Amino acid sequence: MKRDYYEVLGVSRSASGAEIKKAFRRRARELHPDVNKDDPDAEAKFKELAEAYECLSNPETRATYDRYGFEGLRRGGFQDFSHVSFEDIIRSFFGEGIFGEGFFSGGSRRSRGADVAVEVEISLEEAAAGVQREVEYSVVGDCENCGGSGAAPGSSRRTCPTCGGGGVVRTVTRSAFGQFVRTGACHACGGAGSVVDEPCSECSGTGAVQTQRRLAVDIPPGIDDGQRIRVTGMGSRGEGNGPSGDLYVQVRVAEHEQLVRDGDDLVYHQPLTIVDAALGTTVSIPTIDGEMELDVAPGTQFGEVKTIRGKGMPRLRGRGRGDLKVVMDVIVPRNLNREQRELLKKFEETTSEKNYNGGEGFFERIKAAFSHR
Ligand SMILES: [Zn+2]
Ligand SMILES: [Zn+2]
Repeated sequence: MKRDYYEVLGVSRSASGAEIKKAFRRRARELHPDVNKDDPDAEAKFKELAEAYECLSNPETRATYDRYGFEGLRRGGFQDFSHVSFEDIIRSFFGEGIFGEGFFSGGSRRSRGADVAVEVEISLEEAAAGVQREVEYSVVGDCENCGGSGAAPGSSRRTCPTCGGGGVVRTVTRSAFGQFVRTGACHACGGAGSVVDEPCSECSGTGAVQTQRRLAVDIPPGIDDGQRIRVTGMGSRGEGNGPSGDLYVQVRVAEHEQLVRDGDDLVYHQPLTIVDAALGTTVSIPTIDGEMELDVAPGTQFGEVKTIRGKGMPRLRGRGRGDLKVVMDVIVPRNLNREQRELLKKFEETTSEKNYNGGEGFFERIKAAFSHR
């Protein structure tokens, strides 16, 4: 059962030619199989739409359809699209460039310039404070000799006589299923809309040259290893007045010798002798802002974490800073000599459960662990 053409296009029977065209463009964008890859009926729906438009966009076939319906069209020689390949429909309606140019955009060929990536390495301190770095990279830029126009100095580009500056040419094609207007990039100017009579000798008339560019880039405080900064418009130049690409600065944050980053927090491992851990001490610890003194409480256990608020990394998006987490690594002495062993044994004899209290049955666990001796 064929659906009514007006219903397919979603217009009333009194719609004007312009309304029909507008409705077709809108529906074609929605139904185009390139944007409906998961819909197995996309091609069929698109064909139905193209056929409806083919009929209603032509006043003669439209009148026939209005008066006599599908049967009248068939008798009048109008072929439906059931046996036309989808590729032929696309080619007939849209020429070569389907969505980027021609029929839909109506404009000239304008392509965006390529994006360019460059890597910089900074220290953790620089990542914390923010830093400006000069980057140097290779990019397709405007030719300096002609200012990017491609025309030799003293001459200028002129409007392309073939396309009249639009960059697009329309050709009328007769095909098995009717007459179609194709649009495509103008071959005389390559879609640029203008031509050069006297090409610039430096760039052979392209207006573009490969060049080295230096640029100062601000790296914000709090940036993390692997993050990218986009500098809009600083990539390669576009074609045919298209916009320039972007520059991506890939940031590498070098490893710090003592501080390890964990999101916005920093982690430092503080080695302690068993004596310092037991008696307490004051140590000097590194922070991202320089050294600071830290009191270690008597009875500090292995793996205990002391959190110093606000001494971490600045938050890239948001206020404040993370924390510095100092992890206590209690180092058990090795290679004891006889005297040291005796001293420790004597010390051990003086200890009692009381010395190991406070750690959720810690003493019991120790006793259990060594009970097999
Ligand atoms: Zn040039
Ligand atoms: Zn042209």
